[in-house]
Amino acid sequence: MDQPTEPPPNKPLRTATHPPLPLNPLKRIPLLRTATHHADPEPTLPLRQSRHHPSSSIHPQAAEAHQQPDTNASVFFIGNATTLLSHGRVRLLTDPNFLHHGEHVHLGPGVTAMRRTDPAVPDLNSMPPVDAILLSHYHEDHFDKGVEGALGRGVPIVTTPHAKGCLEAVGFERVSGLGTWEGMFMPVEGEDSQGKRSEAVRVTAMPGKHFPPGPLTAVNELLGAVPPTNGWLVELGWVEREEGEEGFETGYRIYISGDTLFVDELREIPERLRGDKINLMLVHLGGTTIPGPRMPLLMVTMDAAQGVQLIRLVDPDVTVPIHFDDYDVFCSSLDEFKEEVHAAGLGDRVVYLDRGDEYRFTVRKTA
Ligand SMILES: [Zn+2]
Repeated sequence: MDQPTEPPPNKPLRTATHPPLPLNPLKRIPLLRTATHHADPEPTLPLRQSRHHPSSSIHPQAAEAHQQPDTNASVFFIGNATTLLSHGRVRLLTDPNFLHHGEHVHLGPGVTAMRRTDPAVPDLNSMPPVDAILLSHYHEDHFDKGVEGALGRGVPIVTTPHAKGCLEAVGFERVSGLGTWEGMFMPVEGEDSQGKRSEAVRVTAMPGKHFPPGPLTAVNELLGAVPPTNGWLVELGWVEREEGEEGFETGYRIYISGDTLFVDELREIPERLRGDKINLMLVHLGGTTIPGPRMPLLMVTMDAAQGVQLIRLVDPDVTVPIHFDDYDVFCSSLDEFKEEVHAAGLGDRVVYLDRGDEYRFTVRKTA
């Protein structure tokens, strides 16, 4: 295990805060730009199986406890890096990609990839409406051309400054571009059913590097295929309406790696968190290799070994791997990751979701 490091003296978790994005689950914008109103009833997710913390599967009583209605949040795995995060009334969609088996994405000059799987939800039209989209970076395996064409221009998107430029160029109107360590607070307007505290989410952009450090002249032309990328710290919690972000109480922390390699910049994450626990890590694996499996020149996402390194660094309660087998440019299989996890003795801290499965958990309330 990595030795705990002294927190750097002057490095706060957030270096800047964007204006808050209020969420109103009663007034969500339809996901399809051609829709004037929501489908009634709204589409439901095709849930296969609910999973819980692995230790609760070992202890049936604990599992029962976890199935009580006190689980108030979940992550539903649609495919690749596409997930739906639900916290009470809040719904956030990550990296929307609804391509099907055999369809291709263009990832940059000379780089294409073929989808090998189907998403759990067949298309955007079959999704329940969401409050906002978290987009790690502007790459077609995270935001495909079908989504780009069909998505309502007023749906809020939180992403990188680079992707903000790309999205605004095609007409998206509510895009926030967060640089590394920049945060944004997203409170639900109005009270929850039980009282005066409402759900709220705070998102902070985490570092990510799609390409390895060092001389890259040999692969320079490939770098056009690797846009800047964010990871995310997603804090789920509660706030009293009058208090704003000052009164935000975190009840659960999710870290989403984004498409990154295991680079030194990631070491700043635990340093800046200063002991605040990551409850759940969604790790983008796959060992994505470009320009393709027949010419594996450059690996741009973590492989199995790096994924385990990241578990050790971030030390989350639970890790859920995503982005591991959906495209033919992914050269590191989930089985390799399972072997590495087993060899590292971390098996009771990883939950494997199939597309269509959800992981359920509890966002703590202190008062
Ligand atoms: Zn990707």
